[in-house]
Amino acid sequence: MATAASTPTTDRLSSFNPATGEVVGTVPVHTAAEVDAAVARARSAAQSWSQLSFEARGEELTAFRKALAADADELAELLHRENGKPLLEAYTEVMMALGHLQHAAARAEVAMAPKRVSAGMLANYRATVSYHPLGVIGVIGPWNYPLFTPMGSIAYALAAGNAVVFKPSELTPLLAVKLAEIAAKTFALPDLLQVVTGAGATGAALAKSAIDKVAFTGSAATGKRVMMAAAERLTPVLLELGGKDPMIIADDADLEKAAEACVYGALTNAGQACISVERVYVADAVHDRFVEEVVKNVRALKIGGDDGHLGAMTSTAQVAIVKDHLDDAIAKGAKVLTGGPDAISGNYIQPTVLTGVSHKMKVMSDETFGPVIPIQRVDSLDEAIKLANDSTYGLGSSVFGGKSVRTIAARLRAGMTSINSVMGFAGIPSLPFGGIGDSGFGRIHGDEGIREFTRIKSTAEMVMSIPMNMMSFRQPKDMTKKLRGMIKQLYGDGLVAKATDTWRKFRGR
Ligand code: NAD
Repeated sequence: MATAASTPTTDRLSSFNPATGEVVGTVPVHTAAEVDAAVARARSAAQSWSQLSFEARGEELTAFRKALAADADELAELLHRENGKPLLEAYTEVMMALGHLQHAAARAEVAMAPKRVSAGMLANYRATVSYHPLGVIGVIGPWNYPLFTPMGSIAYALAAGNAVVFKPSELTPLLAVKLAEIAAKTFALPDLLQVVTGAGATGAALAKSAIDKVAFTGSAATGKRVMMAAAERLTPVLLELGGKDPMIIADDADLEKAAEACVYGALTNAGQACISVERVYVADAVHDRFVEEVVKNVRALKIGGDDGHLGAMTSTAQVAIVKDHLDDAIAKGAKVLTGGPDAISGNYIQPTVLTGVSHKMKVMSDETFGPVIPIQRVDSLDEAIKLANDSTYGLGSSVFGGKSVRTIAARLRAGMTSINSVMGFAGIPSLPFGGIGDSGFGRIHGDEGIREFTRIKSTAEMVMSIPMNMMSFRQPKDMTKKLRGMIKQLYGDGLVAKATDTWRKFRGR
């Protein structure tokens, strides 16, 4: 097993099945010294890995993908038992994670290809931007998508030529340990992808260690702590945090399709997705028909069991947050159409549809992260957009409608928007994924997600000598006077400046 073990730890933590309470397995609680040792081993793996060609790395990543696909049943079963999600959702997660691994491996060479750029006034130079691996990436993951979410960093970091030390959530560590076992068997360098396990203290030790970047996915509150820990060494951070994704339904939307998508977007993974539909704004003219359609869809869902649509909530703490949001909404006048706080039993929450909600309620302002669909009636699309943008978060968003959908989408303050669909952006590996505001910064997925794990190098090569060389102290006596004239000529009202401005305007840059 590719876990750190320089001074074997005696503490262990248990992973529980949230549906039954049974212990699924235990893992070590790695100390700061063990984390540092794992990072040191990763450093030497990174040195060898970064020297390989894209083709050679691509071959090993393909072998890794195939090994994971061969173990898909075991991975899905672990996701099902540790996280509580139904098997269908567990297999969907495995499939999406492997899609990203395939894409990152195939795309790295193009995304990191050196770029020749204009040398501007220094026309005797060749100017190039190139991308190089950072070294060791620390990945800290959440429990809601224990494979798909960290893979968004792991696959792209490895494909860019880095080694990875991954700290999974303490609620879902077994899946990560399995991932590391497969990695150790597949990669020629067994320390290329290591896993350290434990709770917040192990994550904090990784953020403080000698890594070259930390890619964190989790809550905004923990993200701030990670950023502070990383600041000690000025380690760069990538933060994928929470969301409060809005959905807008315009009056010319296909209501059947919109309701079906809304119910899936809000309830998949029992609403425990960073890009869950967390609030819905519906045009007055179609509000009642849309609500009716949503309720009909929700009533058809099966809760619990291996083949259910919704599984158990992963943690009791999250159940308490959802209940608090529901109690608060009801106390402030929301109407419960299905589910509700009284329908919560253990870790199972019946999907809840609320109407008559407002932004004074937590369910419309804070991340609920549970199977709740709060629907607000709006008088105009302007009001819908204003309310949708009234959030400290800015992760995903979606719009259903006809002619105005693209205009609405363009006005949404969010990292990602789906038009006439939900969550589509997460399944398209070429699209960068990430947010703004309290949803974090930096991007996983896409070419941006590969370059996120690189350092940028600028090279200026003088390819020809010209009589005027400004990078020298040997200048003619009248150089100051010449420069004064040149500044006006080139950048003021001179003819050259006018011609350059006109040419740039014409070329659009
Ligand atoms: P969390 O913030 O509680 O924990 C995330 C990880 O951080 C865990 O591995 C945890 O052990 C670790 N951690 C805790 N304290 C730490 C510290 N001081 N230093 C370093 N690491 C520490 O988040 P969670 O409850 O596991 O996950 C749910 C949250 O994740 C939600 O807010 C959800 O929206 C967000 N999320 C975001 C994305 C995205 O891509 N934007 C994806 C999935 C989940």
